[in-house]
Amino acid sequence: MTTTPASTTGGPALPQERRLVTEIPGPRSRELQARKQAAVASGVGTTLPVYVVAAGGGVLVDVDGNSLIDLGSGIAVTTVGNSAPRVVEAVAGQAAAFTHTCFMVTPYAGYVEVAEALNRLTPGDHEKRTALFNSGAEAVENAVKVARAHTRKTGVVVFDHAYHGRTNLTMAMTAKSMPYKSGFGPFASDVYRAPLSYPYRDAGVTGAEAAARAIDVVEKQVGADNLAALVIEPIQGEGGFLVPAEGFLPALVDWCRANDVVFVADEVQTGFARTGALFACEHDSVVPDLIVTAKGIAGGMPLSAVTGRAEIMDAAHVGGLGGTYGGNPLACAAALAVIETIESDGLVERAAKIGAQMTGRLRALQERDPRLGDVRGRGAMLAVELVRAGTSEPDADLAKRVAAAAHQRGVVVLTCGTYGNVLRFLPPLAITDALLDEACDVLDEAFEVTA
Ligand SMILES: *Cc1c(COP(=O)(O)O)cnc(C)c1O
Repeated sequence: MTTTPASTTGGPALPQERRLVTEIPGPRSRELQARKQAAVASGVGTTLPVYVVAAGGGVLVDVDGNSLIDLGSGIAVTTVGNSAPRVVEAVAGQAAAFTHTCFMVTPYAGYVEVAEALNRLTPGDHEKRTALFNSGAEAVENAVKVARAHTRKTGVVVFDHAYHGRTNLTMAMTAKSMPYKSGFGPFASDVYRAPLSYPYRDAGVTGAEAAARAIDVVEKQVGADNLAALVIEPIQGEGGFLVPAEGFLPALVDWCRANDVVFVADEVQTGFARTGALFACEHDSVVPDLIVTAKGIAGGMPLSAVTGRAEIMDAAHVGGLGGTYGGNPLACAAALAVIETIESDGLVERAAKIGAQMTGRLRALQERDPRLGDVRGRGAMLAVELVRAGTSEPDADLAKRVAAAAHQRGVVVLTCGTYGNVLRFLPPLAITDALLDEACDVLDEAFEVTA
């Protein structure tokens, strides 16, 4: 394997190994963290303050020369791998040609090509349109704008454990108060919350029953006549990687269709091959009216999109949608390279294979350790929900300690969940089987030392 100097070049040429040469974080990272504390608003937290100088394949290399296994992908963003070769080439070429014109002033082909690709790739073969933005939250907001323009109604239904972002409207849509909302209100109005399907915590409730329960709340507390959109993550992300019971999503879609309510799938975290399908909706054979994408769409360049039925998307008047940077040319070049990489490298299949490999390891661990209450997820979007042994009582402290033990051993893992008791795994799809296996060994050890 090529061993490019780690401090200067990322990409898959980096040695694919876990290598610890200092404690984690090392002295140079600690120095930078002290500068961060003096310079950066403390509201911007850091999960694992190792300062990165290069990343690629399945590893992150820090300023102290440590090479860590990445099971986070910068929160499901570098799905094709960090500095993936096609992305690097496309962005460099675009940067040399032009960096910005504003698509709303003098447009360029890249934006149109990304829209065409999303219209082609997202579920459903109906006529579609796409609009591009910068962040997931911004795209969610725009999906709501479009749904309101189309239905001429205003209400928005979201779900327990939902995460839709940190802007004012999306804070209202997000469920968890701390840290996302607490102290930041008042929030946008006309947002209503319905109960979710959460198989681990409502055992025995079928998907159809959970949907009926949600629909009952919506009909009684909002009324379809007042409702523009129902917005849901097909697998709840920040809320704990909650895969709803089979039949839950299709029943919600049917209800929306019958009641002139726009069904919006927030696939910001689940999208782009992550779950072993290009989009998570496909696992449930669900065709959303609008689909929101971001995170994995452009290999780390800021880009998001709303894609959906032409008649809904075109309801917003000319000039009503957009933004200075939305669909920036560098981000569009990156997105096209990401899509090409997913298609040519078979990354949908790769995600499914990673899922099978890692689920096997996690289930084996669960057999030995009753603190793993639930192992769940799809493809390369996996989680374990941690509880006090013999109960289903959430154990957030254990999640923190296991994550810290993994971090000290050079494996980047993230936590999530309404109760903070979920460890989530989002490896880049460019990770090797050997590295993934080694990361699982480290997880085993992290559970052992926190017994
Ligand atoms: C991350 C996330 C968002 C918000 O995306 P940003 O780019 O951080 O604004 C919205 N929805 C879901 C499901 C997410 O995971």
